[in-house]
Amino acid sequence: MAAGSAPERSADCSRCLALCCVGPSFAASADFAVDKPAHTPCRHLRPDDGCGIHDRLRARGFPGCAVFDCFGAGQQVVQVTFGGARRRTREMFDALEVLRPLHEVLALLDEAVRSPAVGAEAAALAARVEDLVALPADALTTVDVGAVRREAGALFDDLVAAAQAGRDGPDLRGADLLGADLRRRDLRSARLRGALLVGADLRGLDLDGAELLGADLRGADVRGARLDGALLLTALQLEAARGDAATTVPGHLARPGHWAALPSAR
Ligand code: SF4
Repeated sequence: MAAGSAPERSADCSRCLALCCVGPSFAASADFAVDKPAHTPCRHLRPDDGCGIHDRLRARGFPGCAVFDCFGAGQQVVQVTFGGARRRTREMFDALEVLRPLHEVLALLDEAVRSPAVGAEAAALAARVEDLVALPADALTTVDVGAVRREAGALFDDLVAAAQAGRDGPDLRGADLLGADLRRRDLRSARLRGALLVGADLRGLDLDGAELLGADLRGADVRGARLDGALLLTALQLEAARGDAATTVPGHLARPGHWAALPSAR
């Protein structure tokens, strides 16, 4: 990626230095099978910076890696902020902590710019965030990421309000719906921002107009569900969920490859 071009919104690990496999610390959990200290390579990281268990992450107890997405921030750090550096440095991890949330905001703004209600405002914010993303490493550490997120959050509120105008859906923001069977609920135009939907059963549901910003869809069963009209859904959320050939997805998002291996809901 040339300096000055628009930052990418999806990860390309071939142009990164495995920053996300080295920088963060992990406590053993259902998402990551072992403890890993910060700034220490994962035990499965190969010398060529590839993952030694890439094709069996879920089976080996690393589903968190399977669904992780840096939204293109990793290659931005290596190829742009640090000018194509060949070796990892601690400063790169600091830059990634700032750039990943900014890239996530940019990915969500890609949907917002298509909204007739907030498109112009979203495009202006995206341009400002792109300017922040292009800052040199020392200036990046001064960026107020929280302020950017709050501004984007207010804009997303306006997007959702416009899209759901005149359509009443349940307000389930932040709701704990862990493992819930929701197949009989009408979730069209629902507010599901930040909802805990881990392992929830959403089979066959129509989520047209439903807001899913920050909803935790890990292991959620969305086979046969209609997601093409859902609002503020990301590729990361789709990757974390379990869909099938009958699940519809928004036109700007790709269907996760692992869905093909899952049995159909019917
Ligand atoms: S399991 Fe693979 S993808 Fe996950 S941190 Fe280790 S090397 Fe990286």
